[in-house]
Amino acid sequence: MDVAILTVGDELLAGDTENTNASWVARQVTARGAAVTRMLTVPDDAALIADTVREWHAAFDAVVVIGGLGGTHDDVTMAAVADAFDRELVVEDDVAEDVEATARAYRENNPELVEEYPDLHIDVDDWAATPAGAEPLLNPVGLSPGCAIESVYVFPGPPDEMKGMFELVADRFGGDVVTQTFYTPAPEGAMTELFADLHDRFDVVVGSYPARGSTPNRIKLTAADEATLSEAVTWLRDNAVVADDPDSLGGAEKGES
Ligand code: AMP
Ligand code: MG
Repeated sequence: MDVAILTVGDELLAGDTENTNASWVARQVTARGAAVTRMLTVPDDAALIADTVREWHAAFDAVVVIGGLGGTHDDVTMAAVADAFDRELVVEDDVAEDVEATARAYRENNPELVEEYPDLHIDVDDWAATPAGAEPLLNPVGLSPGCAIESVYVFPGPPDEMKGMFELVADRFGGDVVTQTFYTPAPEGAMTELFADLHDRFDVVVGSYPARGSTPNRIKLTAADEATLSEAVTWLRDNAVVADDPDSLGGAEKGES
């Protein structure tokens, strides 16, 4: 299963907000045996989001779109996704009820804000809309719903809301891809022939991630199935100084590139 992740937000591109959502979803998807094969961050630009979703929906097994949900002027993602599927935005009854209940609870829990901001209210049509025919995903943590529309999943930007919503559909992401990570005291430059050999002998992807200072270099093998991975792991253990735990490399000189 090939998965693409599209994160939306001017603040991400400006560097104001760290894109932790993309890394978190990538880890979740990878841990379930699927492969993330594309990541892109775009501004709050409805046409660009719609074009990207349309193109990626055809190209990937699943697309995760994160950020830009809600009812403020820069929240354009839901409308863009609806546009990508040529659908209207609609407000489903259960979504409206959930959004209203969340807003009501917020007002009850924050009476001083209600007093200070008498105009505090939300327009349910703006905050609860999802594309017609999509499966709405009620927000377990916050206000804005997400949705699943065919194999496109739309989640809100706040990390706790995004994580809570991902869990609702986590079991739809899966595959047979397996990985194993090792640490080595050997400098990267001393590993090139060994890596080439590994590639020639086994159908694995070899990732080499040099570190600095006292951290050992990291090696990650990725394979399409357990048997292939296991053969490559055995060969690597027989032919290089590698450890599963970086701390076990103790006194050895630590690697650099
Ligand atoms: P949004 O859904 O775009 O209105 O974002 C709501 C909040 O979530 C803002 O504080 C964003 O900075 C934060 N946020 C949005 N996208 C991400 C992301 N990819 N990683 C971490 N935080 C994010
Ligand atoms: Mg935003």
